[in-house]
Amino acid sequence: MTQSDNVKKPKRQSMWRGVKGQCPRCGEAKLFRAYLKPVAECSYCGQDWENIRADDGPAWLTILIVGHMVGPLIVYFVMNDAIPIWVTFVLIPVLVAGLSLLILPRCKGAFMGLIWATGAPTS
Ligand SMILES: [Zn+2]
Repeated sequence: MTQSDNVKKPKRQSMWRGVKGQCPRCGEAKLFRAYLKPVAECSYCGQDWENIRADDGPAWLTILIVGHMVGPLIVYFVMNDAIPIWVTFVLIPVLVAGLSLLILPRCKGAFMGLIWATGAPTS
């Protein structure tokens, strides 16, 4: 056990920092070096992020959130005769893709923050 293992790791703060794309440990540096690629280690505090793997968790959460956002809209569009069906077929996929691309990195940051804060095994 290292000294950093004894430091209190607030879960909500760590997750929120991850959502914002900041290092969940210090909140001072970027968590991602590319769209979904985390930095090897934090440039401010030196925390290793390469070995924290969120796996399918972020994708699962993104589908859950986007599905609940778009699902009622699909029902409304289909039930409303004033909206042409082609509008539904064009708008919904664009909306789903856009929201998914927007939300996925935030979910990954939240998962990485939670995994780090709880000390869950990662490999
Ligand atoms: Zn840091």
